[in-house]
Amino acid sequence: MNFADLIETKKRGGRHGREEIAFLVDGITDDSIPDYQLAAWLMAVWQRGMDAEETFLLTEAMRDSGDRLDLGGIDGPTADKHSTGGVGDKISLPLAPLAATLGLKVPMLSGRGLGHTGGTLDKLTAIDGYRVDLSGEEMLAVVQEVGCSIIGQTQRIAPADRRLYALRDVTATVDCVPLIVSSILSKKFAAGPEHLVIDLKCGSGAFMQDLDGARELGRSLMEVARRAGKKMSVLVTDMDQPLGEAIGHSLEVEESLRVLEGGGPPRVRELTLALATEMAVLAGLGSAEELRQRAEERLDGGEAREVFQRMVRAHGGRLPEDRPHSGMEVAPEAEPVVAPRSGHYAGVDTRQVGLAVVDLGGGRLRHTDTIDLSVGLRSRVRVGDRLEEGQPLFDVHCADSERVGAARRRLERAIRIGDDPVEARPLVLEKLRD
Ligand code: URA
Repeated sequence: MNFADLIETKKRGGRHGREEIAFLVDGITDDSIPDYQLAAWLMAVWQRGMDAEETFLLTEAMRDSGDRLDLGGIDGPTADKHSTGGVGDKISLPLAPLAATLGLKVPMLSGRGLGHTGGTLDKLTAIDGYRVDLSGEEMLAVVQEVGCSIIGQTQRIAPADRRLYALRDVTATVDCVPLIVSSILSKKFAAGPEHLVIDLKCGSGAFMQDLDGARELGRSLMEVARRAGKKMSVLVTDMDQPLGEAIGHSLEVEESLRVLEGGGPPRVRELTLALATEMAVLAGLGSAEELRQRAEERLDGGEAREVFQRMVRAHGGRLPEDRPHSGMEVAPEAEPVVAPRSGHYAGVDTRQVGLAVVDLGGGRLRHTDTIDLSVGLRSRVRVGDRLEEGQPLFDVHCADSERVGAARRRLERAIRIGDDPVEARPLVLEKLRD
Protein backbone atom coordinates (compact mmCIF):
# COMPACT_ATOMS: atom_id res chain seq x y z
CA MET A 1 0.00 0.00 0.00
CA ASN A 2 1.18 3.52 -0.73
CA PHE A 3 0.32 6.23 1.78
CA ALA A 4 -0.03 8.87 -0.96
CA ASP A 5 -3.05 6.87 -2.18
CA LEU A 6 -4.70 7.27 1.23
CA ILE A 7 -4.11 11.02 1.11
CA GLU A 8 -5.59 11.08 -2.40
CA THR A 9 -8.65 9.09 -1.28
CA LYS A 10 -9.32 11.38 1.65
CA LYS A 11 -8.64 14.55 -0.33
CA ARG A 12 -11.44 13.52 -2.71
CA GLY A 13 -13.84 12.73 0.14
CA GLY A 14 -13.48 8.95 -0.06
CA ARG A 15 -13.46 6.61 2.90
CA HIS A 16 -10.84 4.29 4.40
CA GLY A 17 -11.49 0.62 5.12
CA ARG A 18 -10.06 -1.54 7.90
CA GLU A 19 -6.85 -2.41 6.00
CA GLU A 20 -6.07 1.18 5.12
CA ILE A 21 -6.61 2.29 8.71
CA ALA A 22 -4.35 -0.51 9.95
CA PHE A 23 -1.67 0.56 7.45
CA LEU A 24 -2.02 4.18 8.60
CA VAL A 25 -1.77 3.40 12.33
CA ASP A 26 1.14 0.97 11.86
CA GLY A 27 2.95 3.65 9.89
CA ILE A 28 2.30 6.27 12.59
CA THR A 29 3.52 3.94 15.33
CA ASP A 30 6.69 2.68 13.65
CA ASP A 31 7.47 6.10 12.11
CA SER A 32 7.48 4.68 8.57
CA ILE A 33 5.07 7.39 7.42
CA PRO A 34 6.90 10.74 7.54
CA ASP A 35 5.42 13.83 9.22
CA TYR A 36 4.90 15.67 5.91
CA GLN A 37 2.62 12.93 4.57
CA LEU A 38 0.74 12.58 7.84
CA ALA A 39 0.27 16.35 7.96
CA ALA A 40 -1.30 16.29 4.49
CA TRP A 41 -3.56 13.41 5.50
CA LEU A 42 -4.62 15.24 8.70
CA MET A 43 -5.62 18.32 6.73
CA ALA A 44 -7.58 16.17 4.26
CA VAL A 45 -9.44 14.58 7.21
CA TRP A 46 -10.05 18.00 8.74
CA GLN A 47 -11.67 19.08 5.48
CA ARG A 48 -13.49 15.89 4.46
CA GLY A 49 -14.21 14.24 7.83
CA MET A 50 -14.61 10.55 8.58
CA ASP A 51 -17.80 8.56 8.92
CA ALA A 52 -18.79 6.63 12.07
CA GLU A 53 -17.28 3.34 10.87
CA GLU A 54 -13.94 4.94 9.94
CA THR A 55 -13.80 6.77 13.27
CA PHE A 56 -14.48 3.51 15.09
CA LEU A 57 -11.79 1.64 13.09
CA LEU A 58 -9.27 4.40 13.74
CA THR A 59 -10.08 4.35 17.47
CA GLU A 60 -9.63 0.58 17.69
CA ALA A 61 -6.37 0.62 15.72
CA MET A 62 -4.93 3.44 17.87
CA ARG A 63 -6.03 1.63 21.03
CA ASP A 64 -4.10 -1.43 19.85
CA SER A 65 -0.97 0.55 18.92
CA GLY A 66 0.46 0.06 22.43
CA ASP A 67 -0.20 -1.58 25.80
CA ARG A 68 -3.62 -2.23 27.27
CA LEU A 69 -4.21 -2.36 31.01
CA ASP A 70 -5.59 -5.67 32.17
CA LEU A 71 -8.28 -4.87 34.75
CA GLY A 72 -9.34 -8.51 34.95
CA GLY A 73 -7.95 -8.92 38.49
CA ILE A 74 -10.05 -6.09 39.93
CA ASP A 75 -13.16 -7.05 41.94
CA GLY A 76 -16.12 -4.85 41.22
CA PRO A 77 -17.30 -2.61 38.40
CA THR A 78 -14.61 -0.37 36.91
CA ALA A 79 -15.39 3.17 35.81
CA ASP A 80 -13.63 6.34 34.75
CA LYS A 81 -14.37 9.91 33.75
CA HIS A 82 -12.72 11.93 31.02
CA SER A 83 -12.91 15.70 30.72
CA THR A 84 -12.30 17.37 27.39
CA GLY A 85 -10.39 20.08 29.26
CA GLY A 86 -11.21 23.38 30.89
CA VAL A 87 -10.09 26.07 33.31
CA GLY A 88 -10.17 25.36 37.05
CA ASP A 89 -11.25 21.79 36.35
CA LYS A 90 -10.01 19.83 39.37
CA ILE A 91 -12.94 17.43 39.41
CA SER A 92 -10.94 14.20 39.11
CA LEU A 93 -9.44 14.80 42.57
CA PRO A 94 -12.68 14.67 44.56
CA LEU A 95 -14.48 12.50 42.00
CA ALA A 96 -12.26 9.41 41.96
CA PRO A 97 -12.49 8.81 45.75
CA LEU A 98 -16.18 9.71 45.87
CA ALA A 99 -16.97 7.22 43.08
CA ALA A 100 -14.95 4.60 45.00
CA THR A 101 -17.16 5.11 48.09
CA LEU A 102 -20.17 4.23 45.91
CA GLY A 103 -18.69 0.80 45.11
CA LEU A 104 -16.83 1.57 41.89
CA LYS A 105 -13.21 0.78 41.16
CA VAL A 106 -11.59 3.77 39.49
CA PRO A 107 -8.27 3.41 37.63
CA MET A 108 -7.61 6.89 36.22
CA LEU A 109 -4.91 7.79 33.72
CA SER A 110 -4.42 11.55 33.54
CA GLY A 111 -2.46 13.97 31.46
CA ARG A 112 -0.47 17.16 31.99
CA GLY A 113 -1.88 20.60 31.24
CA LEU A 114 -1.18 22.34 27.95
CA GLY A 115 -2.08 25.87 26.84
CA HIS A 116 -4.97 27.39 28.75
CA THR A 117 -6.21 24.10 30.24
CA GLY A 118 -4.79 22.54 33.38
CA GLY A 119 -3.97 18.86 33.86
CA THR A 120 -4.87 16.60 36.76
CA LEU A 121 -1.39 15.12 36.79
CA ASP A 122 0.24 18.48 37.51
CA LYS A 123 -2.25 19.12 40.32
CA LEU A 124 -1.36 15.83 41.97
CA THR A 125 2.34 16.64 41.83
CA ALA A 126 1.57 19.69 43.99
CA ILE A 127 0.99 17.17 46.82
CA ASP A 128 4.26 16.57 48.62
CA GLY A 129 5.69 13.15 47.66
CA TYR A 130 2.77 11.96 45.46
CA ARG A 131 4.08 9.56 42.82
CA VAL A 132 2.27 9.80 39.49
CA ASP A 133 4.51 7.20 37.87
CA LEU A 134 3.33 3.96 39.49
CA SER A 135 3.63 0.96 37.17
CA GLY A 136 0.44 -0.61 35.81
CA GLU A 137 0.66 -3.41 38.42
CA GLU A 138 1.27 -0.99 41.31
CA MET A 139 -1.67 1.10 40.20
CA LEU A 140 -3.99 -1.89 39.99
CA ALA A 141 -2.95 -2.95 43.50
CA VAL A 142 -3.87 0.53 44.81
CA VAL A 143 -7.22 0.41 42.99
CA GLN A 144 -7.94 -3.01 44.46
CA GLU A 145 -7.08 -1.93 47.98
CA VAL A 146 -8.23 1.70 48.15
CA GLY A 147 -10.82 1.88 45.35
CA CYS A 148 -9.08 4.43 43.13
CA SER A 149 -5.69 5.45 41.81
CA ILE A 150 -4.71 8.35 39.57
CA ILE A 151 -1.45 8.07 37.63
CA GLY A 152 0.10 9.61 34.53
CA GLN A 153 -0.54 8.10 31.20
CA THR A 154 2.48 6.02 30.23
CA GLN A 155 4.32 6.39 26.93
CA ARG A 156 3.09 2.94 26.00
CA ILE A 157 -0.65 3.67 26.07
CA ALA A 158 -1.88 4.49 22.53
CA PRO A 159 1.52 5.69 21.20
CA ALA A 160 -0.05 6.36 17.79
CA ASP A 161 -2.20 9.04 19.41
CA ARG A 162 0.85 10.64 21.03
CA ARG A 163 2.53 11.16 17.65
CA LEU A 164 -0.65 12.16 15.86
CA TYR A 165 -1.70 14.62 18.58
CA ALA A 166 1.69 16.38 18.51
CA LEU A 167 1.35 16.78 14.74
CA ARG A 168 -2.26 17.99 15.00
CA ASP A 169 -1.09 20.61 17.45
CA VAL A 170 1.24 22.19 14.86
CA THR A 171 -0.93 21.71 11.76
CA ALA A 172 -4.14 23.40 13.04
CA THR A 173 -6.03 20.08 12.92
CA VAL A 174 -6.91 19.60 16.59
CA ASP A 175 -10.49 20.82 16.17
CA CYS A 176 -11.78 17.90 14.11
CA VAL A 177 -14.47 15.63 15.55
CA PRO A 178 -13.29 12.20 14.27
CA LEU A 179 -9.72 13.00 15.30
CA ILE A 180 -10.79 14.13 18.78
CA VAL A 181 -13.05 11.10 19.25
CA SER A 182 -10.40 8.58 18.21
CA SER A 183 -7.76 10.36 20.30
CA ILE A 184 -9.82 10.39 23.51
CA LEU A 185 -11.40 6.96 23.19
CA SER A 186 -8.30 5.06 22.02
CA LYS A 187 -6.59 6.01 25.31
CA LYS A 188 -9.65 5.33 27.44
CA PHE A 189 -10.29 1.97 25.77
CA ALA A 190 -6.63 0.98 26.25
CA ALA A 191 -7.00 1.77 29.95
CA GLY A 192 -9.97 -0.56 29.90
CA PRO A 193 -12.68 0.58 32.37
CA GLU A 194 -16.10 -0.95 31.71
CA HIS A 195 -17.99 2.31 32.21
CA LEU A 196 -17.02 5.75 31.03
CA VAL A 197 -18.51 9.18 31.62
CA ILE A 198 -17.34 12.08 29.48
CA ASP A 199 -17.44 15.60 30.85
CA LEU A 200 -17.70 17.49 27.59
CA LYS A 201 -16.86 21.11 28.29
CA CYS A 202 -18.63 23.78 26.28
CA GLY A 203 -17.91 27.51 26.28
CA SER A 204 -15.17 30.11 26.02
CA GLY A 205 -12.72 28.07 28.11
CA ALA A 206 -13.28 24.84 26.18
CA PHE A 207 -12.31 23.89 22.71
CA MET A 208 -15.97 23.22 21.89
CA GLN A 209 -17.24 26.77 22.19
CA ASP A 210 -20.87 26.31 21.18
CA LEU A 211 -23.58 23.82 21.95
CA ASP A 212 -23.95 22.59 18.35
CA GLY A 213 -20.27 21.62 18.20
CA ALA A 214 -20.46 19.98 21.63
CA ARG A 215 -23.52 17.97 20.58
CA GLU A 216 -21.81 16.77 17.40
CA LEU A 217 -18.76 15.66 19.39
CA GLY A 218 -20.94 14.05 22.08
CA ARG A 219 -22.97 12.08 19.54
CA SER A 220 -19.85 10.85 17.77
CA LEU A 221 -18.28 9.75 21.08
CA MET A 222 -21.47 7.86 21.94
CA GLU A 223 -21.60 6.18 18.54
CA VAL A 224 -18.01 4.92 18.71
CA ALA A 225 -18.54 3.68 22.30
CA ARG A 226 -21.69 1.86 21.16
CA ARG A 227 -19.82 0.14 18.33
CA ALA A 228 -17.08 -0.82 20.79
CA GLY A 229 -19.66 -2.34 23.16
CA LYS A 230 -18.82 0.15 25.96
CA LYS A 231 -21.28 1.79 28.30
CA MET A 232 -20.81 5.51 28.19
CA SER A 233 -22.66 8.71 28.88
CA VAL A 234 -21.78 12.30 28.11
CA LEU A 235 -22.51 15.33 30.25
CA VAL A 236 -22.15 18.60 28.37
CA THR A 237 -21.11 21.11 31.03
CA ASP A 238 -20.59 24.85 31.14
CA MET A 239 -17.10 26.26 30.61
CA ASP A 240 -18.13 29.87 30.05
CA GLN A 241 -16.56 30.68 33.42
CA PRO A 242 -13.84 28.90 35.40
CA LEU A 243 -15.02 25.94 37.40
CA GLY A 244 -15.01 26.95 41.05
CA GLU A 245 -12.80 29.64 42.54
CA ALA A 246 -9.26 28.27 42.33
CA ILE A 247 -7.23 28.16 39.10
CA GLY A 248 -3.66 26.95 39.55
CA HIS A 249 -2.27 23.75 40.96
CA SER A 250 -1.80 24.02 44.74
CA LEU A 251 -4.86 26.25 44.99
CA GLU A 252 -6.96 23.66 43.16
CA VAL A 253 -5.80 20.84 45.40
CA GLU A 254 -6.85 22.92 48.41
CA GLU A 255 -10.24 23.54 46.85
CA SER A 256 -10.66 19.83 46.10
CA LEU A 257 -9.96 19.04 49.75
CA ARG A 258 -12.66 21.49 50.79
CA VAL A 259 -15.10 19.69 48.47
CA LEU A 260 -14.05 16.36 49.99
CA GLU A 261 -14.95 17.78 53.40
CA GLY A 262 -18.47 18.66 52.32
CA GLY A 263 -17.68 22.32 51.48
CA GLY A 264 -16.08 24.08 48.52
CA PRO A 265 -17.65 26.17 45.77
CA PRO A 266 -21.19 24.99 44.91
CA ARG A 267 -20.45 24.30 41.23
CA VAL A 268 -17.44 22.12 42.01
CA ARG A 269 -19.43 20.15 44.56
CA GLU A 270 -22.36 19.88 42.17
CA LEU A 271 -20.29 18.59 39.25
CA THR A 272 -18.47 16.10 41.48
CA LEU A 273 -21.82 14.73 42.67
CA ALA A 274 -23.36 14.70 39.20
CA LEU A 275 -20.44 12.79 37.63
CA ALA A 276 -20.10 10.29 40.50
CA THR A 277 -23.82 9.59 40.34
CA GLU A 278 -23.67 9.14 36.58
CA MET A 279 -20.73 6.72 36.80
CA ALA A 280 -22.57 4.61 39.39
CA VAL A 281 -25.85 4.69 37.45
CA LEU A 282 -24.04 3.47 34.33
CA ALA A 283 -22.58 0.61 36.37
CA GLY A 284 -26.10 -0.35 37.51
CA LEU A 285 -25.45 0.29 41.22
CA GLY A 286 -28.89 1.80 41.88
CA SER A 287 -31.26 4.53 40.83
CA ALA A 288 -30.04 8.06 40.16
CA GLU A 289 -31.94 9.38 43.21
CA GLU A 290 -30.55 6.80 45.65
CA LEU A 291 -27.02 7.14 44.34
CA ARG A 292 -27.10 10.92 44.41
CA GLN A 293 -28.23 10.86 48.03
CA ARG A 294 -25.57 8.31 48.93
CA ALA A 295 -22.92 10.40 47.20
CA GLU A 296 -23.92 13.48 49.21
CA GLU A 297 -23.69 11.47 52.44
CA ARG A 298 -20.25 10.11 51.52
CA LEU A 299 -18.94 13.60 50.82
CA ASP A 300 -20.47 15.19 53.90
CA GLY A 301 -19.60 12.27 56.19
CA GLY A 302 -15.88 12.36 55.27
CA GLU A 303 -15.73 8.88 53.68
CA ALA A 304 -14.60 10.27 50.32
CA ARG A 305 -11.94 12.39 52.09
CA GLU A 306 -10.70 9.27 53.85
CA VAL A 307 -10.37 7.37 50.55
CA PHE A 308 -8.49 10.33 49.04
CA GLN A 309 -6.12 10.36 52.01
CA ARG A 310 -5.50 6.62 51.61
CA MET A 311 -4.89 6.98 47.88
CA VAL A 312 -2.39 9.79 48.47
CA ARG A 313 -0.55 7.69 51.08
CA ALA A 314 -0.50 4.65 48.80
CA HIS A 315 1.20 6.88 46.20
CA GLY A 316 3.83 8.01 48.72
CA GLY A 317 2.28 11.46 49.25
CA ARG A 318 1.55 13.39 52.42
CA LEU A 319 -1.44 15.53 53.36
CA PRO A 320 -0.80 16.50 56.99
CA GLU A 321 -3.75 15.37 59.17
CA ASP A 322 -3.47 18.34 61.47
CA ARG A 323 -3.05 21.00 58.80
CA PRO A 324 -5.00 19.38 55.97
CA HIS A 325 -5.02 22.47 53.75
CA SER A 326 -1.42 23.46 54.11
CA GLY A 327 0.44 20.55 52.56
CA MET A 328 1.01 22.52 49.38
CA GLU A 329 3.05 25.60 48.76
CA VAL A 330 0.92 28.60 47.69
CA ALA A 331 2.58 31.78 46.40
CA PRO A 332 1.87 35.03 48.29
CA GLU A 333 -1.06 37.20 47.28
CA ALA A 334 -0.46 40.25 45.11
CA GLU A 335 -2.90 43.18 44.76
CA PRO A 336 -6.27 41.90 43.50
CA VAL A 337 -7.69 42.60 40.03
CA VAL A 338 -10.70 44.84 40.70
CA ALA A 339 -13.87 45.85 38.84
CA PRO A 340 -13.18 49.00 36.80
CA ARG A 341 -16.82 50.07 37.20
CA SER A 342 -20.10 49.07 38.82
CA GLY A 343 -22.56 46.87 36.94
CA HIS A 344 -23.37 43.21 36.41
CA TYR A 345 -20.70 40.58 35.86
CA ALA A 346 -21.66 39.47 32.35
CA GLY A 347 -18.86 36.96 31.82
CA VAL A 348 -15.23 36.41 31.15
CA ASP A 349 -13.28 34.97 28.24
CA THR A 350 -12.37 31.85 30.16
CA ARG A 351 -9.56 30.85 27.83
CA GLN A 352 -7.83 34.11 28.75
CA VAL A 353 -8.20 33.26 32.45
CA GLY A 354 -6.34 30.01 31.81
CA LEU A 355 -3.68 31.91 29.85
CA ALA A 356 -3.32 34.39 32.75
CA VAL A 357 -2.17 31.42 34.85
CA VAL A 358 0.35 30.65 32.08
CA ASP A 359 1.50 34.31 32.37
CA LEU A 360 2.11 33.69 36.08
CA GLY A 361 4.32 30.70 35.23
CA GLY A 362 1.67 28.14 36.23
CA GLY A 363 0.98 26.63 32.80
CA ARG A 364 2.89 25.46 29.77
CA LEU A 365 2.71 26.41 26.12
CA ARG A 366 4.98 23.54 25.08
CA HIS A 367 5.12 20.01 26.47
CA THR A 368 8.69 20.64 27.66
CA ASP A 369 7.98 23.83 29.70
CA THR A 370 8.42 23.62 33.48
CA ILE A 371 5.71 25.14 35.64
CA ASP A 372 5.36 26.74 39.06
CA LEU A 373 2.72 24.81 41.01
CA SER A 374 2.40 27.49 43.71
CA VAL A 375 0.99 30.31 41.54
CA GLY A 376 -2.60 30.88 40.43
CA LEU A 377 -5.79 32.85 40.69
CA ARG A 378 -8.80 32.82 42.92
CA SER A 379 -11.97 34.04 41.28
CA ARG A 380 -14.03 36.08 43.75
CA VAL A 381 -17.20 36.52 41.67
CA ARG A 382 -19.58 34.42 39.58
CA VAL A 383 -21.31 35.36 36.33
CA GLY A 384 -24.51 37.23 37.20
CA ASP A 385 -23.14 38.92 40.36
CA ARG A 386 -23.84 42.60 40.94
CA LEU A 387 -20.48 44.44 41.11
CA GLU A 388 -19.35 47.68 42.71
CA GLU A 389 -16.45 49.69 41.27
CA GLY A 390 -13.19 48.60 42.94
CA GLN A 391 -14.58 45.24 44.09
CA PRO A 392 -11.97 42.44 43.86
CA LEU A 393 -12.65 40.05 40.96
CA PHE A 394 -9.52 37.89 41.13
CA ASP A 395 -6.87 37.35 43.80
CA VAL A 396 -3.52 36.79 42.13
CA HIS A 397 -1.03 34.46 43.83
CA CYS A 398 2.46 35.14 42.54
CA ALA A 399 5.58 36.80 43.93
CA ASP A 400 6.91 38.10 40.58
CA SER A 401 5.48 41.58 39.90
CA GLU A 402 6.22 41.47 36.16
CA ARG A 403 4.27 38.25 35.77
CA VAL A 404 1.44 39.66 37.91
CA GLY A 405 1.31 42.71 35.61
CA ALA A 406 0.97 40.54 32.48
CA ALA A 407 -1.79 38.42 34.05
CA ARG A 408 -3.59 41.52 35.31
CA ARG A 409 -3.63 43.16 31.86
CA ARG A 410 -4.95 39.97 30.30
CA LEU A 411 -7.71 39.58 32.90
CA GLU A 412 -8.76 43.21 32.60
CA ARG A 413 -9.28 42.66 28.86
CA ALA A 414 -11.13 39.37 29.41
CA ILE A 415 -13.87 40.45 31.84
CA ARG A 416 -17.18 41.84 30.69
CA ILE A 417 -19.31 44.09 32.86
CA GLY A 418 -22.77 45.08 31.63
CA ASP A 419 -25.56 47.36 32.77
CA ASP A 420 -28.31 44.74 32.70
CA PRO A 421 -28.77 41.75 35.00
CA VAL A 422 -27.34 38.53 33.58
CA GLU A 423 -28.23 34.92 34.30
CA ALA A 424 -25.41 32.35 34.36
CA ARG A 425 -25.89 29.20 32.26
CA PRO A 426 -26.73 26.03 34.17
CA LEU A 427 -23.75 23.85 35.05
CA VAL A 428 -24.98 20.71 33.28
CA LEU A 429 -26.22 21.85 29.89
CA GLU A 430 -27.22 18.44 28.49
CA LYS A 431 -26.90 14.77 29.15
CA LEU A 432 -26.45 12.17 26.40
CA ARG A 433 -26.94 8.53 27.33
CA ASP A 434 -27.95 5.44 25.32
N1 URA B 1 -8.10 15.43 24.38
C1 URA B 1 -7.47 14.41 23.79
O1 URA B 1 -6.96 13.52 24.44
N2 URA B 1 -7.41 14.40 22.44
C2 URA B 1 -7.95 15.37 21.68
O2 URA B 1 -7.87 15.30 20.47
C3 URA B 1 -8.60 16.42 22.32
C4 URA B 1 -8.68 16.43 23.69
